[in-house]
Amino acid sequence: MSSIARGEPIALRPLAPQSAPGSGPALSVVAPCYNEEETLPVFVSRMVAACQAVAGDSFELLLVNDGSRDGTWAQIEAQAAQHSGVVGVNLARNYGHQLAVTAGLKLARGDRVLIIDADLQDPPELLTELSARMDEGFDVVYGQRRTRAKESAFKLLTANLFYRVLSGMSETPIPRNVGDFRLMSRRAVERLNAMGEQDRFLRGMVAWMGGRQTQVLYDRDARYAGETGYTLRKMIRLATAGITSFSTLPLKLAVVLAGAGAAIAFGLLLYVIVGFITGHVAPGWTSLAMMIVFFGVGQFMCLAVMGAYIGRIFLEVKARPLYFVDEVVRTPEAEPVNGPREVQR
Ligand code: UDP
Ligand code: MG
Repeated sequence: MSSIARGEPIALRPLAPQSAPGSGPALSVVAPCYNEEETLPVFVSRMVAACQAVAGDSFELLLVNDGSRDGTWAQIEAQAAQHSGVVGVNLARNYGHQLAVTAGLKLARGDRVLIIDADLQDPPELLTELSARMDEGFDVVYGQRRTRAKESAFKLLTANLFYRVLSGMSETPIPRNVGDFRLMSRRAVERLNAMGEQDRFLRGMVAWMGGRQTQVLYDRDARYAGETGYTLRKMIRLATAGITSFSTLPLKLAVVLAGAGAAIAFGLLLYVIVGFITGHVAPGWTSLAMMIVFFGVGQFMCLAVMGAYIGRIFLEVKARPLYFVDEVVRTPEAEPVNGPREVQR
């Protein structure tokens, strides 16, 4: 036992990324683009300048065309020809913002990855501040909206309502007023990529991962040009994905109903029996009332049991990694064992 040194424990190197370290650029930027042809030239020049400010020439800017109906793809090709470091990715159809970002994250090779909207609502110049925060040792630095310029009252109201409902229901605390604008370390990106669920609510998934996360406040600008690609339908789909992926509360409704039903049934039963004994009832009413009560409560209880199992099935099919290990420390003399690995199934 005397061989255990009292020295500083050694922090093991963080997880080896799937791509060998140093094989990619210092920075990747993932920008989903849906009908952004007008904005792209300005976005690319501002974004490239911001990348150069923090990473010199060691960056890649992935422009993911999410099945745009306008000339976005032609514009992306032109930008890729004009600027080195710009990479165009053309998806087969419009899969939606979350999947466009997911596709970009899988392709990104950088040591750090920035997710940013291509419509210039998220200021590219904030990258400097996000990088500085990450230098302090954070895995995720997300942009939190201090203000939102020129967004419709409807958008503000629905967004506010949604975040309230979600944070009330979600088992994972999900920060408010936060979109997908964020800088992530390679380790955080690998973790996110390891989560294979189909219905992807990225900001919730990143919150679920844990690790060291922090925020930088910013003012959200108005759209540079064009109009929002988030139709009401897409917004509802995103909100549903957020609530159903992060809360099994709706499923537990049957439990509440079964409990309330049982309480009411008990009172009713007493009333029925007293009525039967005192003879203040029409013939046949007692058995009828008891049957209704019995089957009504019985059904709610069965639904509650099914809800509990369906909730479990839902968690299992998501097949998320069970947990992530941030670091392992040991004394210098200890036998080297395998480094920390992500636990995956
Ligand atoms: N976007 C996308 N696919 C879509 C809708 C939007 O890739 O189906 C992109 C869009 O080009 C933008 C970002 O996702 O870069 C955010 O979308 P948008 O600005 O339309 O949403 P809002 O800011 O109004 O919520
Ligand atoms: Mg926008």
